[in-house]
Amino acid sequence: MIVDVPLRAKPLDPHLQEVLGEIYGSHEVQRLRKGFYIKRGWAFDDYIDCVVISEWPSQDVAEDMKKEFGLEKALNYLCDENRAPDYGVCDSPEQFYRKYGKQLVNDVRQYCVCFCEIRREDQSEWGGWRYHKWGPYIGTQKPQHEYLYDDKHIEKVYTWHIYQVDINKERCVRCKKEARHEREFAEGTFKICTDCLYFFTQQLRKEKRKKVK
Ligand SMILES: [Zn+2]
Repeated sequence: MIVDVPLRAKPLDPHLQEVLGEIYGSHEVQRLRKGFYIKRGWAFDDYIDCVVISEWPSQDVAEDMKKEFGLEKALNYLCDENRAPDYGVCDSPEQFYRKYGKQLVNDVRQYCVCFCEIRREDQSEWGGWRYHKWGPYIGTQKPQHEYLYDDKHIEKVYTWHIYQVDINKERCVRCKKEARHEREFAEGTFKICTDCLYFFTQQLRKEKRKKVK
């Protein structure tokens, strides 16, 4: 199914977003339709305020299949052209939805998708965005070059990234895993997991010991 995810006002890793922000500009997340978001730059999972089960959902399914049924089954699954790739390039979010929306809606797992608009006018003559490593292109604009800058007939494309989430589980602000506790710190109240709670408790003890010395 496709679900709306709770969004954080501030990213989990402000430093990372600051660095990305310098490269890609503003990071405001916009909701396009249920479970579909658009954002300048990447690292959308930093804004998701619930547990992210997987950033590479079908890779993880393939791993499980390999363990259970062997490599061939896993490869067949990964090579199935009808399966929505975890990430890729399209002409528009609507196009993506027309092609894969039903499949994601009918899946029992929870998904959200983040898109990023890549405009040719923003590309520099020296390099800039290129198709390589961004997954399959499912559009109809017929790219002729590796760099978007060189494809004068294409104004823009969109990258997509599918995340598998669990909107019923809250996320630890430190490690991003499932948060089971809420703890007050000087800076405010945070959701935190058992491991991180232990980590912070140890830290506090150490600090107290230092003060005693
Ligand atoms: Zn944690």
